[in-house]
Amino acid sequence: MLLFKKEKNLKKYIADAKKQGKTVGFAPTMGALHTGHISLIAKAKTQCDIVVCSIFVNPTQFNDQKDLEKYPRNEVADIQLLTSAACDVLFLPDVKEIYPPGKDLSNKFDFGALTEVMEGEFRPGHFNGMAQVVKRLLDLVAPDTLFMGQKDFQQFSIVQRMLELMGGDIKIVMCETLRETDGLAMSSRNTRLSPTLRKHAHFIYKALTDAKAMKTTHSPADIITWAKNELNIPNFRLEYFAIVDGRTLQPIQTFNESDYVVACVATWLGEVRLIDNIVF
Ligand code: AMP
Repeated sequence: MLLFKKEKNLKKYIADAKKQGKTVGFAPTMGALHTGHISLIAKAKTQCDIVVCSIFVNPTQFNDQKDLEKYPRNEVADIQLLTSAACDVLFLPDVKEIYPPGKDLSNKFDFGALTEVMEGEFRPGHFNGMAQVVKRLLDLVAPDTLFMGQKDFQQFSIVQRMLELMGGDIKIVMCETLRETDGLAMSSRNTRLSPTLRKHAHFIYKALTDAKAMKTTHSPADIITWAKNELNIPNFRLEYFAIVDGRTLQPIQTFNESDYVVACVATWLGEVRLIDNIVF
């Protein structure tokens, strides 16, 4: 695997590969990699000639300074995992490389109501920062296809919208959420859970799967009330349990309203904030 830290070296490599007619797949990450991330690399390898992974803990998407400071980092293990997965290129820039002083990288996209709900409501500014870094990385990597996880469903929807607004021909592929054996969605943040909270963390996915099973007998509002109660667990602090249309991300009142329903949840477990979702 090749490792680039500088944009100019990465761009030269990509330009040379494209001259040879190679297609480029790209999976942006914030590192502390786990099997979920590696599944994106594996999927990209089945569809593209060259797979690029980036690791960059983007400061502009953290609305909480403590969350940024505590975000797990593990470069050595990440490099080993990516090498074993036969990833072709790791882009590992520092903050100055992504945000050179004086360069205007402000985000000019209007995502409308997509950014106003769920994560947008509870993490003000998060999606501006996320879109800013993804746009910058897309400009540098110039991939044919972008691989992102369903785990971050709203993030996926917003990036998909950004690609439409950009009007180019970058494709985006949604990769399924990989889970621990008890159902907990793999996340870099899971390592920060206390043993007790880790034991209880599977209740998040259980609430989602049980909610899905209730869709023929209950209304969205009833399911939400039920789920809020289920997730009322000591040291959990639920931010939202929402049942939305998977395209607009707006809450639905009845299941007849949408043929693509997604339930999304965000909850704190102690000091760790986790999100998950399920397509009904
Ligand atoms: P992150 O490093 O958390 O920003 O995630 C980088 C990419 O990996 C995003 O596209 C995520 O949606 C995806 N991802 C994170 N966790 C998982 C998982 N458990 N399964 C599949 N993809 C994931």
